[in-house]
Amino acid sequence: MSKLAWGTIDVDTTLGRVFFQQDWAYKWEFEAPETAWTYQEQLAFHTKVDRQIWSSWSNRVTLGVKGKHWMVTRFGRAGLRINFDIRWRTVKQTAQWSIRAVKTKRDDARSETVFPLRKSTLIVSDAEPHGVMNESKAKAYDFVSPPHEFGHMLGDLADEYYANSPHIRDKNSIMNIGRYLRARHMAEVLRQLGTMLPGCTFWVRDIR
Ligand SMILES: [Zn+2]
Repeated sequence: MSKLAWGTIDVDTTLGRVFFQQDWAYKWEFEAPETAWTYQEQLAFHTKVDRQIWSSWSNRVTLGVKGKHWMVTRFGRAGLRINFDIRWRTVKQTAQWSIRAVKTKRDDARSETVFPLRKSTLIVSDAEPHGVMNESKAKAYDFVSPPHEFGHMLGDLADEYYANSPHIRDKNSIMNIGRYLRARHMAEVLRQLGTMLPGCTFWVRDIR
């Protein structure tokens, strides 16, 4: 197991599974006319975000492994599945990320992540499907932001919806205005796995 500043990676070397978890502590904020968070609302929001991240990121990627290592003998053929999830930590000291969950009616409020500080702002209404447009004028109508923000939290993946992104045309990518993972989104995770298991080289063998 490897506990990084931005998440914890666990490799189950018996089952051939990789598990990436982030511990989040929330700051529950609101702007009038919204009202203070109740515990039920907090729980519902965390559960929604957790499910969105799970369904966007988990059970989608199969990793290949090669090199001179017994893991290659065991999992070289089948590969390794990787799953992602978040855990709500109420004790701030044990959290890797500080998440501002903001209830607001302001139109210009935006979810955003600052990787070096391990801080993210999640605007509550951004977790509902909404319309978005990228800088090539491509549109999507049912975008939800938390799984995209999770990408920023996963080793600082870059936005792909800017005109100067090499991936601006790939509108279905989760880091653009879509919902699908790409092999490039695993870059930092693969790097960490290689560090954890010297002698193994990991790559993305399959993605769906
Ligand atoms: Zn973004």
